[in-house]
Amino acid sequence: MDITFLGAALTTTGSMHLIEVGGKMILLDCGLMQGRRKEAFERNRNFPFAADAVDAVILSHAHIDHSGNIPTLVKKGFHGAIYATPATRDLCEIMLSDSAHLQVKDVAFANRKRIEAGKNPFEPLYGPDDVEPAMSLFRPTPYGERIEIADDVFVEFHDAGHLLGSASVVIEAVRGGSRRRLFFTGDMGRRDMPILHDPEVVHDVDVLITESTYGDRSHPPKADVAGRLKGFIDDIVRQRAKLVIPSFSVGRTQELLYYLHELHEQGRIPEVPVYVDSPLSTKATEVYERHVECYDRETVAMLAHGDQPFHFGSVHYVETTEESKALNGKAGPMIIISSSGMCEGGRIVHHLMNTIGDPRNIILFVGYQAENTLGRRIVDGVSPVRMFGEEYEVCARVHTINALSAHADRDELMDYFTEMGPRLDRAFVVHGEQQAAESLAAGLRDLGARSVIIPGPGDKATDVL
Ligand SMILES: [Zn+2]
Repeated sequence: MDITFLGAALTTTGSMHLIEVGGKMILLDCGLMQGRRKEAFERNRNFPFAADAVDAVILSHAHIDHSGNIPTLVKKGFHGAIYATPATRDLCEIMLSDSAHLQVKDVAFANRKRIEAGKNPFEPLYGPDDVEPAMSLFRPTPYGERIEIADDVFVEFHDAGHLLGSASVVIEAVRGGSRRRLFFTGDMGRRDMPILHDPEVVHDVDVLITESTYGDRSHPPKADVAGRLKGFIDDIVRQRAKLVIPSFSVGRTQELLYYLHELHEQGRIPEVPVYVDSPLSTKATEVYERHVECYDRETVAMLAHGDQPFHFGSVHYVETTEESKALNGKAGPMIIISSSGMCEGGRIVHHLMNTIGDPRNIILFVGYQAENTLGRRIVDGVSPVRMFGEEYEVCARVHTINALSAHADRDELMDYFTEMGPRLDRAFVVHGEQQAAESLAAGLRDLGARSVIIPGPGDKATDVL
């Protein structure tokens, strides 16, 4: 078996690895390289292989940096099976549609300038019509089900505890009486996070491909998230103000709702309206509700008591733009959870424009804010900030909860590898910046792996299994 590391090599975006085994070509993830740089534009449009020569795709989870280039692959002639868990399939349906709309919007923005300059307009990478043909190729494959992808080569998904439906992947080659096992972490989740199972530990791994997003860092101790939320809610109730939470629609929003539900059930917070204001969040919550098989014991117990984790007290899912705008005129107290998570677009920007000038309000960040985003500027204390061409003084109080990362940190990854057992022979460290990857690679060498490699983009490893 040979593996070519095509994406998420020395970076955390565009996860894609090509496996060649028994005359078959298998893609492990088909992620979108994100960012507006020319490199991403070219990379997403041009695969370094013929799309119609690929036999199958194995998809670890629905995040766009792992799944988002599937419609392009299908457009270019891929017609094999896409193996993913049932929840990943359902999340992809809404996330790829959302991504298609963003592709069209992004290109329209760039094209305005190109047309003014007399240049030919760009075509979108893919559009809404390209999603359905891609969805028809999905083969929902539950955790633990064994599929044969080439002669005597089997694939199995295990729960990664990172996002609803997220999987780590075992690829097993059986030769004579012996079995050799490759383990791809996908994005590795964390123990004791709300809603999802803990990552399932897999044993007898010979070859490892691991993510290393936080390979050189430890997360802050799991702070009392519910306690901090309660503090902010008590504050805005007292001041009849608004708590505005920019949040990713898929995953983070459902986690927040889980914590709010818990506080509500325990009678720790007063009755306060919660508005979930993002069409994608509403759809994602519906997918979460359909996939009870992904829930941990606590969430299953909640259901058994007749409680719905995402429907309680005064949670409202805002549908139309008119309803969303109407929130501006309503007096607090209220909680508004809206996207995009980094405030780069979407309804959250309107809520910020409406609330950021009032010192009684609280803006609460619950996720990573990348450089050069509005979210990052607000977190960094920049004031005034620019929204839709107007300057706004930041008078509202700004807080951050950092404890909600969905990626295992260095210690959590190393604990996992230790639990896997001593068989590890070779490891490839991907999905991390250079420093994070190097630090994790050193840890794996200490653990006894004979060969640990940090592949660069396009590097090929031969005779891996
Ligand atoms: Zn992910």
